[in-house]
Amino acid sequence: MLLEAGHELLVFDDFSNSSPIALDRVRELAGPAAAPRLQQMQGDIRNPKDLEQAFTKAPSGIDAVIHFAGLKAVGESVQHPMHYWDVNVNGSRCLLEAMQTHGCHTLVFSSSASLYGYPEAVPIPETAPIAPINPYGHTKAAVEQMLSDLHASSPDSWRIDCLRYFNPVGAHPSGRIGENPLGIPNNLYPFVSQVAVGRKSQLQVFGGDWPTSDGTGVRDYIHVMDLADGHLAALDCLLAEEPQLLTLNLGSGQGQSVLEMVQAMEAASGCSIPYAITDRRPGDAAISVADPSKAAQRLGWRTQRGLKEICRDGWAWQQQNPDGYT
Ligand code: UDP
Repeated sequence: MLLEAGHELLVFDDFSNSSPIALDRVRELAGPAAAPRLQQMQGDIRNPKDLEQAFTKAPSGIDAVIHFAGLKAVGESVQHPMHYWDVNVNGSRCLLEAMQTHGCHTLVFSSSASLYGYPEAVPIPETAPIAPINPYGHTKAAVEQMLSDLHASSPDSWRIDCLRYFNPVGAHPSGRIGENPLGIPNNLYPFVSQVAVGRKSQLQVFGGDWPTSDGTGVRDYIHVMDLADGHLAALDCLLAEEPQLLTLNLGSGQGQSVLEMVQAMEAASGCSIPYAITDRRPGDAAISVADPSKAAQRLGWRTQRGLKEICRDGWAWQQQNPDGYT
């Protein structure tokens, strides 16, 4: 989408949880005219030398950073909290220092709805208390605090968006790029699609006695294409307006249960998805749904795609790439 909008890009990635083949496919989708505007470099955000190389690689400098570099598996964060603090928090600190050194003060940061913990009320507005319940959420809250402190130190310079994602799912509609979690997926959506394609035999539904319409957990699933649209809108807003720190939920405002997701994927794939209801997963909330009205008001952005499109596009990806990028 950034290439389509005419931007020049440098993707900086350590490829620890991703594949350079995805970038080849982005070039292929963008077409030969746009593809040369995408450069890539392998590096680690915790390594100032790698960052220095990135900031000096672009001939005309770097105007803005969209900071996705982080670890995002809640269970893994409980087992390896120091690694999460190192990559997510220390990595962000190193990146911000490099940005300061190079006079780049525009940043879009991938934050997370996980920092709301067990929400007091739904839909959740941005003003809800920050009360994460796992190390992953703590690292996102810590980076938001770091960004707030940094912005306060120089409010006339910094343009920062913290985008609090709800549950991003789906894939590019071409089926060429999508999510390929390493090992056993922790999250519902990749698990459901792996059962549909036959990579896993059965879904475990974590709890059938939640206080929801069908007893299963409810989340706000957002198509990755809507999420990408939100980033573009956020970047445009930052570049057009006065320096600011803007914190926004990116979600649809609609909640869907685990069983609704199963049914939508069965309809999209034509495959049956066997499931068994098991115990609740420790640390889960019953319902998490965004109040997306601030993003609508500030960016003119709202989601355009629902569960049907999410499953249609995610299924195209899963079916065409049953083993991911390998
Ligand atoms: N879930 C489930 N089985 C799974 C994975 C998740 O029943 O194998 C449920 C989970 O309890 C929650 C919903 O699906 O109600 C979304 O979970 P996910 O991990 O995808 O997102 P998060 O809980 O982080 O919002």
